[in-house]
Amino acid sequence: MARMHHAYDLDRQGWLKPHANVLRALSPNQDDRPEGNHPTLLVLHNISLPPQEFGGPYIRDFFQNQLDIDAHPWFENIRDLKVSAHFLIQRTGHIIQFVPTTRRAWHAGVSQFDGRERCNDFSIGIELEGSDFEPFTEAQYRELSRLSRALRMRHDLRAVRGHEHIAPGRKSDPGPFFDWKRVKREHGWAKETLPEQELEPRPEQAPGQGR
Ligand SMILES: [Zn+2]
Repeated sequence: MARMHHAYDLDRQGWLKPHANVLRALSPNQDDRPEGNHPTLLVLHNISLPPQEFGGPYIRDFFQNQLDIDAHPWFENIRDLKVSAHFLIQRTGHIIQFVPTTRRAWHAGVSQFDGRERCNDFSIGIELEGSDFEPFTEAQYRELSRLSRALRMRHDLRAVRGHEHIAPGRKSDPGPFFDWKRVKREHGWAKETLPEQELEPRPEQAPGQGR
């Protein structure tokens, strides 16, 4: 079989091996997964700092506890938060990794999946630079697909959910513009691993209904 020159690969600790598209930026907001917990769930998010502005250094700074609070008035709202995710996929498709996948990142907060609380214990978190109000980029879907494949090779991931699914009412990301049907078609996940309700037609698109 031809060698896949561009495929991502994780080392033993769960860092992506050096790759031109990947930057490593260690976040202090991490700790050990509780005894016996391995990642079985992938959680997708969106984030933009300031909200709905893209391309700045602020998400990376925020996850490294280095955000310049004075750079924008809105940042006062997140002054004391200490959070992280394993990965950020920027609008350009560039990936920043903050936490190795064998360790616990602080991305999900109060959450529940499949009867279990505290999804951080048993999940990997990917942030997509974006918002609830506009589409994600082609480069982001492409890189999410490539990253997902590497994660599945290394970990026994049995489900993918949005933050909105594991913290309903409290969180709304990755939001209505995230294309779950495209993920089902193109990213190689088994159908039963994806959120069922997202694969059904949305009510306003149901056949027989007027516009
Ligand atoms: Zn989120």
